[in-house]
Amino acid sequence: MAGKFKWLILAMMLVLSGCRFVDNAKPLVLSTTGMIHDAVCAIAGDRVSAKVLMGPGVDPHLYRMRAGDIALFQKSTIIFYNGLNLEAQLGRALSGLSTKKTVRAISNGIPRDRLIMAEDHEDNPDPHIWFDIDLWREAVQTVTQTLSETMPEHADTFRKNAATYDQLLRELDTWVAHQIATIPAENRVLITAHDAFSYLEKRYGITVVGLQGMNTLSETSPADITRVTSIILNRSIPTIYVESSVPVRQIEAVQAAVRAKGKDVAIGPPLFTDAMGAPGTPEGTYVGMITTTIRHIVEGLTP
Ligand SMILES: [Zn+2]
Repeated sequence: MAGKFKWLILAMMLVLSGCRFVDNAKPLVLSTTGMIHDAVCAIAGDRVSAKVLMGPGVDPHLYRMRAGDIALFQKSTIIFYNGLNLEAQLGRALSGLSTKKTVRAISNGIPRDRLIMAEDHEDNPDPHIWFDIDLWREAVQTVTQTLSETMPEHADTFRKNAATYDQLLRELDTWVAHQIATIPAENRVLITAHDAFSYLEKRYGITVVGLQGMNTLSETSPADITRVTSIILNRSIPTIYVESSVPVRQIEAVQAAVRAKGKDVAIGPPLFTDAMGAPGTPEGTYVGMITTTIRHIVEGLTP
């Protein structure tokens, strides 16, 4: 496993080096989230100028257009977004642009039966598809196809790079499954501020309990705190988690409620859920964001 892990780290560095420069002479490919941008960098490399709209720690559910975004949208040749209502506040702007340029939701190519629907909402799929790495591989295919259609002269390069990236994602998928399986079964419960991990739960077999719904727009109620506190007390869960793009106070309220009952629960290091870390840090790539998050989960839940 150690050898494979080194290989992953090496691959991450290669991915990073593919997207270091912004070159105004090349077609601009804009991605809403860092996770999509990472795929664009890996596949298109220096054939395009790639930019990301939402930086480290930015919550995509809440992101609103800023001054300068319109100009960036207009300059772009391709705009990639996640879709499934992740970028809830950008819906109108993106559909307005789609008549003028190539605007693609990378979730479009995913078969509907592989999406997780919100409770009681058949038409409301969970947007956090990047936590099922096998599903994310499908989404990345839309990036490759769109780049190839738009720049057919580079299609061979895109195909080759995409194959290398896909191999990396397959390794990552296997690594995550192994890591989750090392957590003792009775502790395999992930408690976080918002429900970003349903795809992780389904693919890798860990029970996920969210304090909020699957978007960060909803408020946490006292009933939510009571519900989550009783799960922690009943199962003696050692660690609960905050997220890099969600305020910490709600999860602190849960910790206080557990302490009021005479028990204790730790708050783990922030998990990277809806945004990657800063460029140049280990969490500044998709693979790094996933490996760091999984390592924090395994360390916190393993006695
Ligand atoms: Zn989210």
